[in-house]
Amino acid sequence: MDPAGLAQRYHKVKDALPQGVLLVAVSKKRTVEEIKALYDLGHRDFGENYPQELRDKQPQLPEDIRWHFIGHLQSNKVKYLAPFVHLVHGADSRALLDELDKRAAQAGRTIDVLLQVHIAQEETKHGFSPEDIAPLLVETPLERWKNIRFCGLMGMASNTEDNAQVEAEYNGLAALHRSVNALGLPLLAHFTELSMGMSGDLDQALAAGSTMVRVGTSIFGPR
Ligand SMILES: *Cc1c(COP(=O)(O)O)cnc(C)c1O
Repeated sequence: MDPAGLAQRYHKVKDALPQGVLLVAVSKKRTVEEIKALYDLGHRDFGENYPQELRDKQPQLPEDIRWHFIGHLQSNKVKYLAPFVHLVHGADSRALLDELDKRAAQAGRTIDVLLQVHIAQEETKHGFSPEDIAPLLVETPLERWKNIRFCGLMGMASNTEDNAQVEAEYNGLAALHRSVNALGLPLLAHFTELSMGMSGDLDQALAAGSTMVRVGTSIFGPR
């Protein structure tokens, strides 16, 4: 590990963000030592993709880290992170919301989630279809998921060199976020966040109005 290089890359990323945009440092496959080095620079928001990896790392690191779960989450893995997770970015099915709600209740807490929307021209990315989001929220009785707080939307753009396409996908997600908020549902009192942008497409995401970005490689180096 190279602490000076880490500090330099971290500040470069962080200083380029508009005010009010949260930087989630994506620490999947990074060691506890690397995460601690970034923590020691004052960083507190970390993103992980794999439930068991997160479960194993969390007790080895300071308690005031806010752990974001950003990967695809299988229902049978929710139990590993329900007691402590700060925000689940990738809620992508009703079954997963049911499980998150159940495990949140068991842990005596509320779990904050973002609904993941499938915006990429790729089969491999998870998420609800854009047209499913409004019906999901409109048709949900308030008591169905009362241990979940819906905090906004998350999306991953296509992995392509075509910047215009990436921009269009992120603009589409931002427009969906606005139109969902315009429904004015009580369920949406906290629906403020838009998690979009990673190392390769940060500028396009920020231009479209991200409130949170998930950055790994530009901070920690290549995985
Ligand atoms: C790995 C990952 C990131 C970070 O990717 P980098 O290219 O390393 O910045 C962001 N979001 C999700 C969902 C990821 O899986």
